[in-house]
Amino acid sequence: MLELKHIKKEYRSKKGGNTLAVNDISLVFENTGMTFLLGKSGSGKSTLLNIIGGLDRYDSGEITILGKSSSNFTKEDFDSYRNTYVGFIFQEFHVLEDYTVYENIILALQLQKKEVDHQKIQSLLSKLELSELKDRKINELSGGQKQRVAIARALIKDPKIILADEPTGNLDSKTSRQVLDLLKQISKEKLVIIVSHDEESAQEYADRIIEIRDGAVIRDTKEITEVPQISEKFQLIRSKLPTKESFRLGVGSLKHKKIRLCATIFLTACALFFLGMSDTMASFQMAKAHAKLMVENEKNLVSIQHIDPSSTSWYSINLPWQQKDIDAVKDQIPEFISSYRISLDQTELQYTSLGINQPTNSMEDNYYTVGAYTQMQVVPLPENQTWIKENVIGHLPQNEDEIVISNYVSSIIQKYGIQPYTENELDLTDVYYPANDQELVEKGLYINFNGIKKVKIVGVIQYDLSKYEAIKKTIDKTTYLLYSDLSSEVKATYNRIYVAEDFFQYLNIPDTPMVNMNYIYDLSLEDGTGLYANINYSNKPLTYFDGTNYQTIDKLNDHQILLSPEDIAMLYSDNSYEAALEEYLSKQPEDADLEAMEKSYFEHFVSQYRQLIGEKVRFCVKGMNDKNLTEEKELEIIGVVPLDKQNGRIYTYVSEQNVEQFKTYPIERNELLFHCSDQKELQQLFTEFAPGGEYQATTVYSSDLVNMNEFFNLAKKVAFYISLVFAVFALILITNFIFSSIAYRKKEIGILRALGARGMDVFKIFMWEGFFLALISGILASIGTGVVCAVLNPMIINTIGIGLTPLMFGIRQIGLIFVIVFVITIIASLLPIRKISKMKPIDAILKR
Ligand code: ADP
Ligand code: MG
Repeated sequence: MLELKHIKKEYRSKKGGNTLAVNDISLVFENTGMTFLLGKSGSGKSTLLNIIGGLDRYDSGEITILGKSSSNFTKEDFDSYRNTYVGFIFQEFHVLEDYTVYENIILALQLQKKEVDHQKIQSLLSKLELSELKDRKINELSGGQKQRVAIARALIKDPKIILADEPTGNLDSKTSRQVLDLLKQISKEKLVIIVSHDEESAQEYADRIIEIRDGAVIRDTKEITEVPQISEKFQLIRSKLPTKESFRLGVGSLKHKKIRLCATIFLTACALFFLGMSDTMASFQMAKAHAKLMVENEKNLVSIQHIDPSSTSWYSINLPWQQKDIDAVKDQIPEFISSYRISLDQTELQYTSLGINQPTNSMEDNYYTVGAYTQMQVVPLPENQTWIKENVIGHLPQNEDEIVISNYVSSIIQKYGIQPYTENELDLTDVYYPANDQELVEKGLYINFNGIKKVKIVGVIQYDLSKYEAIKKTIDKTTYLLYSDLSSEVKATYNRIYVAEDFFQYLNIPDTPMVNMNYIYDLSLEDGTGLYANINYSNKPLTYFDGTNYQTIDKLNDHQILLSPEDIAMLYSDNSYEAALEEYLSKQPEDADLEAMEKSYFEHFVSQYRQLIGEKVRFCVKGMNDKNLTEEKELEIIGVVPLDKQNGRIYTYVSEQNVEQFKTYPIERNELLFHCSDQKELQQLFTEFAPGGEYQATTVYSSDLVNMNEFFNLAKKVAFYISLVFAVFALILITNFIFSSIAYRKKEIGILRALGARGMDVFKIFMWEGFFLALISGILASIGTGVVCAVLNPMIINTIGIGLTPLMFGIRQIGLIFVIVFVITIIASLLPIRKISKMKPIDAILKR
């Protein structure tokens, strides 16, 4: 049945000195009987036995078992070979300490995938006098008892061969005899090979004695040449460690190294937590949240703004809408509510107070101090605005001097009063306090529109302000949300003063185009000195001084520039021309002709810098963030324009062409305004006209959402990198943890392997361990992320003051956490698994 041919095994030690442990041994074994391998310590007996049992590899030669040569055996075949045909008994017993007697025994059966036959086990147990000890843990047994368990375990598999390496080495002589008697009995049916150095027992028990010295056979009492045949066919049983057992062993090893386990789980959970947070923040969909917020709060006013692409995110500059811009967006937006909203670039129209008395800024007055009275915007009444028509006390503006305000502004007037119009600004008439909106309208009071014109409040629009009642008294945490909500509604809606179209003619604002002061014009000279100037062009002919004479020019060409005396003063001295002029004039006698003095002062000043005329300056237009908006170009200085202050500004003149794109009119169309209350449509709008684009859809929520989104964009990156760092440590710790468990479980691995468990079975044990690590970390991280999101959400909402759920932690994130943790664990298991698969069973069992 079993034959060894020319088996050789050499141990190569790292220090050199090789040991030839088995030196060309050829042996034929009978199918039954008790064979003793005798020899001094170190002669190679154990090595030979381990090779026979497939626990150790040999260098050359061949083993034949049931007529099958082992020369083509894979590692796994050797495992299965042990599983099927070999039962091992060791000097050190090598039974699983954590298992009971019974469990140790049936494990061998289970590995063979055989049904557990309780009857058979029972009879085996009684035969070995173990019945009483069946449920005892191994560590409660004596050496002799342990060895009997080992024998029972070897026998239950019903192997063809029993291999025993000094089975009595750790037993007293009485127990030794029992064990040997037992083995002798077994040898009637099986081949029993016993390694021993006890010549006496060998003489007593052996059917055959083979003596070994220096790895070679020096005596064989029953040399056999013919290989005894056996009818059975060679058929290997692949082992299969039951899931329950691999689970038990895997999870069992988690109990050890508790601190390291906790640290590993903690770091892994941290990595996953930050990943979860990162993804939660990344999945914040601004457009979707925005649309939802609008619909939930019944807001529907959307304005699309044309934004200077060079604007930075913290400072955006609105560009005028030209026909091409309208064409570019009009297909994608619902119909405008009327025409374009007209917002006035004139300071006096944008910041009107209507003569309302200043509310004091005390905390109790927060309801009245959100700024409506200081930043009201004058807007022509939209056409077809039925809602306004139906909700106005009084009537809509029809005449040029009529205005309509909101009930919010009216409430401020009622509380703080309003100054009636008077011809003489110094004549402070009694302040009027209307009792209600109705009274204010009926009074037909003329008020002062920013010192320009008298206007009359003819209507008060009734917005629903009931929800803000709570903050009329005080502001605290609970009303803070309401306060910021009110504040944004005021800015968007309640601060509008509706007027008839001809109101602007009535105001008599000059219709000369102005240069949009959001732009800076950078002039620099050849010598590098430069300045920022207010550039404009003129529709009318300009008179200038060229250092010698006055000239008049109809239109500047694109290469010409006319400086202001202030420009020159700024370039060549730090003193203001205007200030110097005023000082000069103030020193003149009372009766002097100031106009003539000013003229001569100007001529004298310019002639000092006559050499500048004809010089070139570099000119370019910059955005607020100093980004060039136009190419730098050279302009020739043709002269200096006498000081002429328009709207308090001193201008430097260039051609119309050079300021074309930047000119604005006093009444500028700078946003498209429309209603939209469909969530889907809104979301599409916010996606299409997202922040950062040239056309941006904005609502009362925009700035808060953009801020939050920017914060999330940054935070998600930070969280992601933190999670990467943690992941690296987690990976190292998991690898280390599994390695340490392998070391801890090494003996068990060896025992299982000796029983016939495959590398795959052992791998399963650690798979469970990794699985549990991953599972616990994943659960902890999911709970952690969920809790942190739940805590952060109200905090974020409180800070920005809009009601939405910014951090939506859900299935997606949990899924991601688990996918990643299992990927990490699998990667972390790669090295340990490699180690397991390389480990020889004998090395494991001896914990080498
Ligand atoms: P025995 O069981 O007869 O005492 P062994 O088979 O254990 O002898 O050892 C035979 C020889 O091989 C000895 O010289 C021993 O030192 C050497 N040897 C055994 N195992 C190893 C090993 N893993 N590495 C190096 N040398 C070994
Ligand atoms: Mg030995």
